[in-house]
Parts: sequence; C-alpha cells; structure tokens
Amino acid sequence: MPEKIREPLLRELSSPGRQGVRFPDLDVPQSPLPGDLLRGDLPLPEVSEIDVVRHYTRLSHFNHAVDINFYPLGSCTMKYNPKINEALARLPGFSALHPLQPEITVQGALRLMYELQEALKEITGFAGCSLQPAAGAHGELTGVHIMRAYHADRGDTRRNKILVPDSAHGTNPASSAMSGFRVVEIPSDERGNIDLTALKAECDDTLAGLMLTNPNTLGLFEEHLLEVIDTVHAAGGLVYGDGANLNALLGIAKPGDLGFDVMHLNLHKTFATPHGGGGPGSGPVVCAPHLTDFLPAPIVVIKEEATDDLPPFYGFHTPAKTIGRVKAFHGHFSVMVKALAYILMLGGPGLRQVAEDAVLNANYLRVRLQDAYRIPYNRICMHEFVAEGRWKDAPDVHALDIAKRLMDFGFHPPTNYFPLIVHEALMIEPTETESKETLDAFAAAMLQIAEEAHTNPEVLHSAPHETPFGRLDEVKAARDLVLQWDDRPPK
Ligand SMILES: *Cc1c(COP(=O)(O)O)cnc(C)c1O
Repeated sequence: MPEKIREPLLRELSSPGRQGVRFPDLDVPQSPLPGDLLRGDLPLPEVSEIDVVRHYTRLSHFNHAVDINFYPLGSCTMKYNPKINEALARLPGFSALHPLQPEITVQGALRLMYELQEALKEITGFAGCSLQPAAGAHGELTGVHIMRAYHADRGDTRRNKILVPDSAHGTNPASSAMSGFRVVEIPSDERGNIDLTALKAECDDTLAGLMLTNPNTLGLFEEHLLEVIDTVHAAGGLVYGDGANLNALLGIAKPGDLGFDVMHLNLHKTFATPHGGGGPGSGPVVCAPHLTDFLPAPIVVIKEEATDDLPPFYGFHTPAKTIGRVKAFHGHFSVMVKALAYILMLGGPGLRQVAEDAVLNANYLRVRLQDAYRIPYNRICMHEFVAEGRWKDAPDVHALDIAKRLMDFGFHPPTNYFPLIVHEALMIEPTETESKETLDAFAAAMLQIAEEAHTNPEVLHSAPHETPFGRLDEVKAARDLVLQWDDRPPK
C-alpha cells in the first residue's frame, strides 16, 4: 500500500499544454508586461484541475490530523475543533474587514472583541484583557514585559530575576530572558510540585516574579499553590500564569481568584482553533487590577453607553502606562471569532463539562496504562499525564520507538521528551472530545506496544510500517529541507 500512495508523488505531473483554468477572451486591448517583471526560467507546472485536486488531497492524507484520528499530543490540547467556528469566521462581515476602517464602520467586530475580552476575564477571574498577542509564547513575552513595567513604575529596579520550575515549557525561560531577566530554575519535588524550600531560598528583593504553569506540564495540580503564590508575593514578586493548560480548570477554578497576577491563554488550544500546522493562533493576556494600566494598546472598550435608541459605541483605548503595541493592528481576529463562537456555544456549564471530561479521560488512560508503563508522578492527574517510554528489561527501546510504532495504529504520537524531568517522556493528553471507544483503542495499542517492546523490539525500532513514508532522518529533514519539486537535472 505505501508504494501505491507514494508513487504519484514521485513522478512529474506536469504535461506541456495541459491546463486547469480557462480564461475568457480578452474584452480589453492587450498591453505588454514590462520585460523586467517577467521571468523566462520559471517552470510552472502544467496540470489539469483533477491533477491539482488529487495532488493536494493526497498530500493532506500524508499528515495526521485531529479530523482523522486521535491526537494525544500532550500540552497541545488537540481537541476536535467544531466546523461551525470556521463557517462563522468566514462570514464576509468578519473576513472582509480592513484593520484601518474607522471605528464606526466596524462596530460588530469591536463588539465581538469586547465580548471575548469580557468572557475571558469572567472565565479566568481577572480584571483586564488584551487580545493582541499572536500565540502563547508571545503572550508570555507580553506578560513578562508587563511585570517589568510594573516594577519599573514603582522604582523597584533591583528586581532582575525570574524563577521558572524545571518542568516548565521552554518558552517560559525564553520569554524571561528575552525581557532581560536572569532566569533561575527551581526543581520539582518528588510529588511533581515546585520545591518549596528551593523556591523560598530564591525569594529575595531581586525577585521580579515566578512563571508557573498550573496544572503543570506533568498534568498535576500544584498542591501548595496558594503557599507558592503567597511566598512570591511576600517577597515583592509577581506570579505569571502560563495558561496553556487552562482546559483542566474551565468553570472550576479561576486563576485570578487563586492569586496569579498575569497570565496568557492559548485560544487555539483551549478554545478550539485548529493548530499545529503553523496557522494563526491567539494568546490573549489577562491580568489583575494592579497591572491593567500596563496592558498593550489598544483594548476595546465601550466609549458611549447604550441609550434607549442606540446600542453602545465600541472603540479602541490605550491604557495609561501601556507597554505599547505588541502586534500589528489588533491581533488574529479570525481566531477571536472562533473562540467566542466556541464559548457561546458551550456556555458556562458546557465549559465546565469540557474540563471535567478532559480530566476524566486523562485519568482513565493513566489507570489503563499504569501497569505496563512507569508513571513517575502517579497521582490523580488533571488533563494529561506523563509516562516513561522505557523499561529496565528492554534497554534498547526508547520513547521515540513507541511514538513511531503508534503511527502504525493510526494514532498521532504523544509529546516526546518533554517535560525534561521525566526520562523518555511520553506526555499524553486525550482532551474531552474523545469517546471511550477511542480511548480504549489507544490503550490497546499502547499495551500491545509494551508487549512488543519485550518480545519483538525490532518491530518498534523499524516503525512506522503502515504510513506512506517510513522513519525519517529527522536531523536531515530539518537541516536539508526540500520544499519544491524539481525534476530538472541539478545545475
Ligand atoms: C503550547 C504551550 C506554550 C506556548 O504556546 P504557543 O501558543 O505554542 O506559542 C507555552 N507553555 C505551555 C505549557 C504550552 O503547552
């Protein structure tokens, strides 16, 4: 089968004179194009419409997608993205706007942004919200800039240090360093919590803040969360919340109530926009009252309250001590449309059920796999858990082999080798949208692979076998990327 799927990709589809489009006869005089704009050496493929459709449809099947099968890529929240979100984002009243239109002509779009800001504040328990950042990492950078601006505004210029737990996503230390802070790593304790003793030892008057992910990247709720936050606050620091794992808390706990000062959300993860293929994301930043003045500009506000005859008038506002603009125009508007559609469709009770089902699904898989795979921090988890992809009695088998073998069963592999504190990590996040049948099929595959690791490790080393392409040389694929088909002999 693989060869049959591959074969049409490996031959030239272009045939001289073949055409996929027909233009109507000219009804204006022909005029020559300037010669310096024309390239004679551009070999555009000559293909029919069906050639093009089959080519791209075939290519789309080479990739795994959440619309094809289970995608338990930990920390990425690869939930099913309802198609109605796309239909709404494509409405011409949203998709055909220009970002420089006068406010009066885009009141509907501004209302949508305003209502999304309000919904995100309600869900997270914060006082302010900016929708500008383009994705999670950008939201982190924005949030850390806000923390820096807050300390600077108080004349508290000695605070040059940010603490980051060793389980954190790599973007946390990167955002801190890019904002000019010194990053100090805090270890985790044996239950997967941030180590309180190590934390306290770093809480001095140079502390700008702590970046904390809760639930953390082990999928565990920080058991001493309130004490951690109080400790940082008592030293004059701020607590940044990495909100990538908000899916576990929706409708159950509000990070603002828990004492976080500022946080980003990943709309493309928690609020259902397709992601992972490089498309637009959105990483709004929400914050507590003492930080709202520093939010990036502009923010959508009601400029004139509704009257008996008129709806409210929405417009852009620049906070008094804003860190400035972090993105051209107003952020990724189409993702905002999808997120608000998703929030309104589910409503409060529906959002809470998202969290409950995500947590239930993760715990179901954790328990089904715990006898075959070592789970180093094995306690009730939130939306995901981390297993080890290694066995003492199967020393040649690695997490990568398990990941590749899973593709033979039609599943996307879990996140590999992250978080760094688990050896041969397999980070599994089922999300709420999967049925028990799917979870059972995945568990059965994982259990079979654990068996094979001991009885037939070669089938793991040589996996995948059932995909259009076998195991790639990942370094070569990254370093020597060929993006363009060219069957002409090399010059
Ligand atoms: C995904 C993720 C990020 C980064 O978010 P992007 O939207 O990919 O930039 C940060 N922290 C954690 C824990 C994540 O899972």
